[in-house]
Amino acid sequence: MIKLAQRIAQVNPSITLTITAQAKAMKAQGLDVCSFSAGEPDFDTPEHIKEAAKKALDEGKTKYGAAVGELPLREAIAHKLQTDNNLNYQPENIIVTNGGKHSLYNLMMVLIEAGDEVIIPAPYWLSYPEMVTLAGGTSVIVPTTAENQYKITPDQLKAAITSKTKLFVLNSPSNPTGAVYSPQEIKALAQIIIDHDILVVSDEIYEKILYDDTTHLSIGSVNEEIFKRTITSNGFAKAYSMTGWRVGYVAAPTEIIKAMVKVQGHSTSNVCTFAQYGAIAALTSSQDCVKTMLDAFSQRRKIIYEAINSIPSISAPMPQGAFYLFVDISATGLTSLDFCTKFLQEENVATIPGIAFGEDRCIRFSYATDMASINKGLEKFSQFVQKLT
Ligand SMILES: *Cc1c(COP(=O)(O)O)cnc(C)c1O
Repeated sequence: MIKLAQRIAQVNPSITLTITAQAKAMKAQGLDVCSFSAGEPDFDTPEHIKEAAKKALDEGKTKYGAAVGELPLREAIAHKLQTDNNLNYQPENIIVTNGGKHSLYNLMMVLIEAGDEVIIPAPYWLSYPEMVTLAGGTSVIVPTTAENQYKITPDQLKAAITSKTKLFVLNSPSNPTGAVYSPQEIKALAQIIIDHDILVVSDEIYEKILYDDTTHLSIGSVNEEIFKRTITSNGFAKAYSMTGWRVGYVAAPTEIIKAMVKVQGHSTSNVCTFAQYGAIAALTSSQDCVKTMLDAFSQRRKIIYEAINSIPSISAPMPQGAFYLFVDISATGLTSLDFCTKFLQEENVATIPGIAFGEDRCIRFSYATDMASINKGLEKFSQFVQKLT
């Protein structure tokens, strides 16, 4: 018998990956599966980004690099954070990581230890609490409501803070709800964080995917006091459809970056060198490719929102960002996992159960999928719900 480390027993396998694998297996059997489970854009990486990586390969950018990341990329990121986000970071405040997921994992490793509490509003991205557990800390989950568009209020944040609170995790635009905090809401949360002298990590991976006249305010840009307490996490996966490239980054006070470089130096070392050159091209070239993808998401969002809210007893708030719709299916009487399992087995439609995100009343639809699948899947959803209610 192999005895695994205790920390692994406390970590849950990813439900998202399980459902996605089931849907793939059904497709492989020849079944016509509509998939709303994807957590990634359905577009190819833009050509000019691929060209830049190919050029880097040809130029021999194939060796070990600095664990902290290539300097030209960190300079481009610092410039982006200044111009897009009004955040005043220098290249020494930036580390390039193996995706935005690894940014957050690496951060938890350097900040969190036994006894530390991390406040996470639910619904949350499913990896946050697992990362806290792996680091030996305790997640304090704060449930939010559909009435408040699944956003934590300043009073809720204040009530969750104890003498053990180290970090608050903010994700706007949100996966899985599509909620975006308004500038006023961000400022109010910032004030609580300053008053109680805790840290905040702002996961801004969906900042470019915003609808209508919604604006994104980086919490670190509110004032000097919050800037000192902010860790900004971002990456290239969602805005530039570069999920497989594995390039993300963290911007933070230098002591945090130095600590993260230590961890990275003994674990992954540098991010794939030529992938970093693709990322430079993503930041320094025209941003039209982002707009093209956004236009497609925007069209699909309206269709999926209207179709779902037209079904009696089913509702979802209008997403302001990202590419997800978070749908309340509690009227069917099924748990989210039972609903998604049945829906996949009986109708060949893949969705993600809300329990994975800490909200069992709901399921997540990703509209990072083609219009034909969306139309067909929505038709099946409507029929399936009518059978159940
Ligand atoms: C996709 C995602 C990330 C990071 O993805 P990477 O592929 O690791 O860059 C981080 N946070 C949220 C909420 C996400 O949905």
